[in-house]
Amino acid sequence: MNQFRTLQINLAGLRSWLVLLAVIWLLGSIGLGWLVKSLVFLFGLLLLLPTIGFFVLRWWLKRNLIEDSCPVCQTRFVAINNSELRCPNCSEPLTIDHGRFHRLTPPGTVDVDAIEVPVSRLED
Ligand SMILES: [Zn+2]
Repeated sequence: MNQFRTLQINLAGLRSWLVLLAVIWLLGSIGLGWLVKSLVFLFGLLLLLPTIGFFVLRWWLKRNLIEDSCPVCQTRFVAINNSELRCPNCSEPLTIDHGRFHRLTPPGTVDVDAIEVPVSRLED
């Protein structure tokens, strides 16, 4: 009796597989093989997507993460390309250009310029 029940369950499982196969065969025979193929393709894509996403992310990070040293205080740190940022050490506004950090201060701005006074004139 017990064995009979197990057999019945197995048969039920087998029947659902047979139904699935029959559906696939039916779809294929009435010219919907492309549907089965695209479903299989979609399923494969679903499995592949996380892997592809991981590699794309790695590639993107490799392309966009720039490691350079601050032009002001020489602290090395990592930043995202084409962004404006502040140095974590001296908080100098920086910009990234061609993979290098640059100061954000516009050209022509004189930051610190010591004025040299000729000693001879002072002595006069
Ligand atoms: Zn700095």
